[in-house]
Amino acid sequence: MSDYYELLGVSQNATLEEIKKAYRKKARKLHPDIAGEGHEEEFKKVSRAYETLSDPDKRQMYDLGGEDALNGASGFGGGFGAPDLGTFFQSMFGGGASRGPASRARRGQDSLVAVDVSLEDVAFGAHRSIEVDTYVTCASCNGSCCSPGTEPVTCSSCNGSGSVQRMARSFLGNVMTSTACSTCQGFGTVIASPCKECSAQGRTHVRDTIEVDIPAGVADGTRIRMSGRGEAGPAGGPHADLYIEIHEERHPFLERHGDDLLTELRIPMTAAALGATYPLDTLDGTQDVSIKPGTQSGDEVILDGLGVGHLRRHGRGDLHVSIVVETPRHIDSQQRELLQQLAALRGEDGVAPAKDESVLGKLKDKLSGH
Ligand SMILES: [Zn+2]
Ligand SMILES: [Zn+2]
Repeated sequence: MSDYYELLGVSQNATLEEIKKAYRKKARKLHPDIAGEGHEEEFKKVSRAYETLSDPDKRQMYDLGGEDALNGASGFGGGFGAPDLGTFFQSMFGGGASRGPASRARRGQDSLVAVDVSLEDVAFGAHRSIEVDTYVTCASCNGSCCSPGTEPVTCSSCNGSGSVQRMARSFLGNVMTSTACSTCQGFGTVIASPCKECSAQGRTHVRDTIEVDIPAGVADGTRIRMSGRGEAGPAGGPHADLYIEIHEERHPFLERHGDDLLTELRIPMTAAALGATYPLDTLDGTQDVSIKPGTQSGDEVILDGLGVGHLRRHGRGDLHVSIVVETPRHIDSQQRELLQQLAALRGEDGVAPAKDESVLGKLKDKLSGH
């Protein structure tokens, strides 16, 4: 991986004009029509650098994340990951070196499908059948685009070469360029008898079912790449990739933190004081949580291994149970009496605090001169 700025020989804060100028200079040295064969790779690299840095959006993405950021953004409509350099040359130079007739077959476009998954799916992994709108290679013509029994015929305008030569003016001076033949769109052949099934597209639209394995521990927003499971390309072109984006639904009482889960258990103050065992709903059914005597509100009990499965390795996270001690809101007279007795026993009856020991109390004492 080479730095785009270095490739063009400009600084990181070069202006668009400087980038253009630097590219022209490099392109003059490397363009196949001028430098001849042997510089294609370098020319492609420099052109790619220019294509990125001359586009403010792409430049920003590149500045933020390098080439990976651009590759990550590819495929979803932009198609930047596999730049069509032929088209790019044409826009830059009004032509391009002749490369023989183009193939009708192209790779399909990558697609993205969002899948809603529950916390249970994420914790244990799941299998899903997903309906997608996609293209498959036309069964009638097998991708040839021609009606059965016929073949594409050689284009008479370009004699099958797919291109016509002409002298063109460009910023590099007058160069001999070849442009795509307008009769056959550069394919070198014409389809005399189009396949009716696919209107000569070589592929047909279908609703397909895709089987997806969702691994345990997958994070919300993760894209699972299903290589070659995307749409078929036109004219028998290869299948694209399908990306499954995971959308994790919120669970009513379990909160996910990585592979650990968090929940709350509300217990009465008597249980907190005396200790008890309480049932708790978990992903693994009802589990007993043992509360130690003297438990405080906010104390945590950890249930090992009841969290989310680790991604592509053994084991699971833990379930953290946060204890909330509830003070009774309504008590009857008998309960009140018992609590008062308890308070008295513990010296907590609070009728007349002997001495206000709070900071504020001490401050008050001071101010009033006691
Ligand atoms: Zn067909
Ligand atoms: Zn032609």
